Amino acid sequence: MLLEPGRGHSRLDRLGPDALEADGEALFRASRKRRVPVKGFLLDQAVLAGVGNIYADEALFRAGIRPGRGAARLRRGEWDSLALEIRRVLQRAIETGGSSISDYVSPDGRDGSYQDERRVYARQGEACYVCGSSIRRRVIAQRSSHYCPACQS
Ligand SMILES: [Zn+2]
Repeated sequence: MLLEPGRGHSRLDRLGPDALEADGEALFRASRKRRVPVKGFLLDQAVLAGVGNIYADEALFRAGIRPGRGAARLRRGEWDSLALEIRRVLQRAIETGGSSISDYVSPDGRDGSYQDERRVYARQGEACYVCGSSIRRRVIAQRSSHYCPACQS
């Protein structure tokens, strides 16, 4: 743990209630006129506070959505899936250890025990656990994005 005595959970504080309570309907509405990739949209802290790069990639993988898709093109049902996976990924990150909440803390992707649960993040060139395809990496919204070309569309 990197927390100093008396400092409380300052990193947890950055996880606004928005991210842990990500709502498909709200995200759907907020994304309609945005001309940005869904990955960039998720990283916009004004949209959803607390979703770091790692967790955005992991939630997108679990929801089967490619990070480069336009946010405005996602269907309502896809936002529901994505919101659910964001909540799950963040909840899991909290459960597996406090040093892993934000990739701001560990830009190299070393994020405590959560790194054992990564399915795509920093796994470029490795085999997808679901289908065996090679995980790809692409820069989107100035951030590394990792995805499976077969499982995500
Ligand atoms: Zn796959």
